[in-house]
Amino acid sequence: MCGIVGYIGKEQAVPVLLNGLAKLEYRGYDSAGITVFDNGVYTIKTQGRLANLAEKIRQEGQKPSHIGIGHTRWATHGAPSDRNSHPHNSQNGKISVVHNGIIENYLELKAFLEDKGYHFVSETDTEVVAQLFEYEYDGDMISTTRKLLQQIRGAYALGILCSDHPDTLVAVRKDSPLLIGLGKGENYIASDIPALLEYTREYYLLEENEIALLKQDEVKLYDMDGGEIQKEVYHVTWNLDAAEKGGYDYFMMKEIMEQPEALKKTIQPRLTEAGIHLQDISLTEEEIKNCGRIHIVACGSAWHAGIVGRYVMEEVSRIPVEVDIASEFRYRNPILQKGDLCIIISQSGETADTLAALREAKKQGIKVLSIVNVVGSSIARESDDVIYTWAGPEIAVATTKGYTTQLSVLYLIALYFAKVRGTLSEARLGAYLEELATLPERTAEILKMDAKMAEIAKKYAFSKDVFIIGRGLDYAAAMEASLKLKEISYIHSEAYAAGELKHGTISLIEEGTLVVAIATQSSLFEKLVSNVKEVKARGAKVLAIAPEGETAIEDVADEVVYLPKAGDLFTGSYNVLPMQMFAYYIAVERGCDVDKPRNLAKSVTVE
Ligand code: GLU
Repeated sequence: MCGIVGYIGKEQAVPVLLNGLAKLEYRGYDSAGITVFDNGVYTIKTQGRLANLAEKIRQEGQKPSHIGIGHTRWATHGAPSDRNSHPHNSQNGKISVVHNGIIENYLELKAFLEDKGYHFVSETDTEVVAQLFEYEYDGDMISTTRKLLQQIRGAYALGILCSDHPDTLVAVRKDSPLLIGLGKGENYIASDIPALLEYTREYYLLEENEIALLKQDEVKLYDMDGGEIQKEVYHVTWNLDAAEKGGYDYFMMKEIMEQPEALKKTIQPRLTEAGIHLQDISLTEEEIKNCGRIHIVACGSAWHAGIVGRYVMEEVSRIPVEVDIASEFRYRNPILQKGDLCIIISQSGETADTLAALREAKKQGIKVLSIVNVVGSSIARESDDVIYTWAGPEIAVATTKGYTTQLSVLYLIALYFAKVRGTLSEARLGAYLEELATLPERTAEILKMDAKMAEIAKKYAFSKDVFIIGRGLDYAAAMEASLKLKEISYIHSEAYAAGELKHGTISLIEEGTLVVAIATQSSLFEKLVSNVKEVKARGAKVLAIAPEGETAIEDVADEVVYLPKAGDLFTGSYNVLPMQMFAYYIAVERGCDVDKPRNLAKSVTVE
């Protein structure tokens, strides 16, 4: 998510900060700001592009400071606005903070601080960090930071300045990236390497809750207990282009690999010991109990997420669910009844057809709950309730982390509804919640099969047609996999419900046609094996995705990729992962522009 830079040294800080932020623009952002020293903390910030910030600085006059912190924000708490932009300062104006990530217990901390007389000016979670730092301030930056870390929970990379220490910059991180750049007579902090490259190639990688104290001529590192530590200095060997992509060839692979982290950020704050806590919604228990029907409406991959959502929601909460393509829904005069709920899914929150569908639902008087990745987007603003996927900006046109985080939110909603409606036993609900909590780690485990998928992709990269079959949740994955393949590799592919192939389409199977059989649900495994036999008998080459241990599949398929065993309910989150990698490597093999496929735009804001 977004970017942090910080500087202390002999040069003017402002140009270094602006330049560093510009190098982080690729990460996506909605506002920007800096703090430097000018007889105390001086902060200037604005919604919008960096050019707006640069213009504002020009108008107000650049301060001659040799220390500063800068930020590009990707809003998670509070819409993009001047006031919510970073840096955030404490009440006495002495402390200034930039933050990437999410402070999960900010509401608790905010209430505590308000009780102590602190007045908050933004809607962000970050402001509590600045205020809490002031509250705990004991004159020493390290010991105050330690007190802060003992109280905040969540994901954070922080840069902190205090006007009592004009020669000191403090940095700390957990679950959000932050590097310490090492120069001569100057030092830096940055969320990512591109911001450093022009100045230095030497850096420290901060580990969880290690605190860095930067001065012009030295950087000291401390652990959580205040003990000084030594760390290895790393040397960057990448060029700027590779650095932006985290060393990957394309953003798409970077984003595929970011899925565990994105899922963690999306799920963890909403799964407490007491169960699911959807702090973001106003829908009452009464409304959930009386919900007659759910209408999930979306486009493209988000629509596929909706199809998974239907299986899961119907299974656990026993509410009937309809899933519609937004461009169809808006024109087909849908029957929506009092007590129905509309769930709208859109990564960008600006998808034109989806927005129109939302308005149709509202016009007919039913409540709208949306699942969106961009805070403050049109869909987020117009919905009754929003549950954000905290996936961070997605740059590749073909969605990966956007899609899997949408799924995780659908799981959260389904299980929350099931709890409220009492449709699952305590034991079963508990087991599902446990599995949901492990989704990020399981995802990371599956992504390790990257090299294997690359190898298989090489063999099939020049297929003319690909058929992808599955049943239930595997059918939803087949649709998403087929779309991925079409989008980025331009291979013609079709997704079929496995039992449906023989009702016509099997006539297209020829000697050597690739059929991918997704067969990850134990309850449907045998049925899928029969379907594989049907296509094999017509000459197909078969790649099967099966659960570990189901070795019988090896007798019928040409290639098998095994996924770790999972409960049937959650296979919807795993079965798509190897196929994202498969599509990616096929596109690379074919020399396609993976991040910017022809004829497509990231956010479809036209009808
Ligand atoms: N949660 C913070 C906010 O919404 C930080 C977001 C970010 O990482 O840019 O302001």
